[in-house]
Amino acid sequence: MCGIVGFTGEHQAAPILLDGLSRLEYRGYDSAGLAVRDGEKQPEVIRAKGRLKVLAEKTDNGVAVLGTCGIGHTRWATHGEPSVTNSHPHMSDDGNVIAVHNGIIENYQELKDKLIRKGYVFHSETDTEVAVKLVDYYYKKYEGTPVDAINHAMVRIRGSYALAILFQEYPEEIYVARKDSPMILGISDGESYIASDVPAILKYTRNVYYIGNLEMARVRKGEITFYNLDGEEIQKELKTIEWDAEAAEKAGFEHFMMKEIYEQPKAVADTLNSVLKNGKIDLSETGITEEIIREISQIYIIACGSAYHVGTAAQYVLEDLTGIPVRVEFASEFRYRKPIMDPKGLAMVISQSGETADSLAALREAKELGVRTVGIINVVGSSIAREADHVFYTLAGPEISVATTKAYSTQLMAVYALALQFALVREKITEEQYEKYIAELQTIPEKIQKILEDKERLQWFAAKQANARDVFFIGRGIDYAISMEGSLKMKEVSYIHSEAYAAGELKHGTISLIEDGTLVIGVLTQPELYEKTVSNMVECKSRGAYLMGLTSFGNYNIEETADFTVYIPRTDPHFTTSLAVIPLQLIGYYVSVARGLDVDKPRNLAKSVTVE
Ligand code: GLU
Repeated sequence: MCGIVGFTGEHQAAPILLDGLSRLEYRGYDSAGLAVRDGEKQPEVIRAKGRLKVLAEKTDNGVAVLGTCGIGHTRWATHGEPSVTNSHPHMSDDGNVIAVHNGIIENYQELKDKLIRKGYVFHSETDTEVAVKLVDYYYKKYEGTPVDAINHAMVRIRGSYALAILFQEYPEEIYVARKDSPMILGISDGESYIASDVPAILKYTRNVYYIGNLEMARVRKGEITFYNLDGEEIQKELKTIEWDAEAAEKAGFEHFMMKEIYEQPKAVADTLNSVLKNGKIDLSETGITEEIIREISQIYIIACGSAYHVGTAAQYVLEDLTGIPVRVEFASEFRYRKPIMDPKGLAMVISQSGETADSLAALREAKELGVRTVGIINVVGSSIAREADHVFYTLAGPEISVATTKAYSTQLMAVYALALQFALVREKITEEQYEKYIAELQTIPEKIQKILEDKERLQWFAAKQANARDVFFIGRGIDYAISMEGSLKMKEVSYIHSEAYAAGELKHGTISLIEDGTLVIGVLTQPELYEKTVSNMVECKSRGAYLMGLTSFGNYNIEETADFTVYIPRTDPHFTTSLAVIPLQLIGYYVSVARGLDVDKPRNLAKSVTVE
């Protein structure tokens, strides 16, 4: 959840660590800290509550801390409130072991009790301090190497972790261990880098190693050695990251969220083009063959947050086009409900980061049950991408804003491409229909662009809604799926309570919440459901609601009913999510800005949710 950065080399470490952390701050941000070591001297540990800038001020942007080896952390608290004492790095009392941690040590209480019996004293409420002291305990008990101590601890720890550890007797070295939390190691010109996510080190190197689950690494200047759980050395291949460092900068936009909203036409086109060969969809890169497609009896879409909303839209599209039954589930529910799965089914796991803890666990559960898996993933080499049988990479590039926009849009494009190919291979659509659908998909980027050009009207409307208390988004079918994402965008960045409701469900309870002036946004992109949803909007209006209608250009006269109307260009009804979501993203963004909030880093949230 949090961000981890490490460096050992010839340069001063603290400025590099702070710079790296600033690029990871979106992952977690309630406190931050550094441990920097100058040669053999005892490392200096500096921690601060609050945003990273507090730590930067405390260290004069890193200049005040001398040393060429260090580790840094931004925290998203799981165990213990955000405070200086709970912030990382944590250390053994004699300073022998100092570490930063991402994840959750599930059996921390049991381990803590054991360590207290051995004479250890604890100062923080964190699970991390337990891991640090456990490593210290084994290091002293067996008098072995750091790798021996860490692997003893790893065998005892349950839960998830990415750990970066300094040992007093090993200056200029950092030790790393990982289980179910992301971590990459980079190398360039005699220097080495550690990071929990690519943007932190992109400026310095593109050459990285992916450390596997239950593996360790010894990181020295320009040299990294990997070990398995038995402490045996293992070999890793150096990989190159293709992302452009520029893409992880704001490029003149005030916020990443707006920049990323603007990047959608390109990201969507790139994702579509990545599978288009001579006007046809080619899934050979994913390894999904026609034979596999013909065999699928059932599709299980498993995801969290906005990726789940992609799944709900995909459900309608896939069922309608391919005739294959689809079930969509929250990964956090799926993993614990002892799912009954058809071995001929296909589990589709959607995750931007490819590290979402619940989605990863769900993927493993599906694999265990013998079901074929495909990941729709943005981050190359991430855990889900590595473990899934097939991967469809979305080409969104790095997404920094906590509230997703472009990753969501590219995930939609990926499921459309899969749906069309499945439909063709299973002869549910003709070649001619297939080509028409593809031609329509190719117009989506320019239609998104068109919506973006008309953003001022939305900005004006959003400013008027900045004091709203509750907002309801309603729709039927695909419009309901769109409503869910619109509502999430609104509440996560603006802190205004909002709910998405299947339009026909309102009258079964929720309508009692409608008061004079309550904003109700009706999504109306499905011709067959248009009148039904309008009726539900009118029911709200009769009870005092202020109505916004979101619909496609065309024959509709929603203006007679709605107080404010937003039009999107026309497209095939299967693909309207891609267009209708854009004004809803913009409204969420502008309401947040009008309320003076931190759009890119909403309170309490983190980007890739690598804890349960
Ligand atoms: N569980 C640890 C804590 O609460 C690490 C949380 C994180 O990943 O930031 O401090």
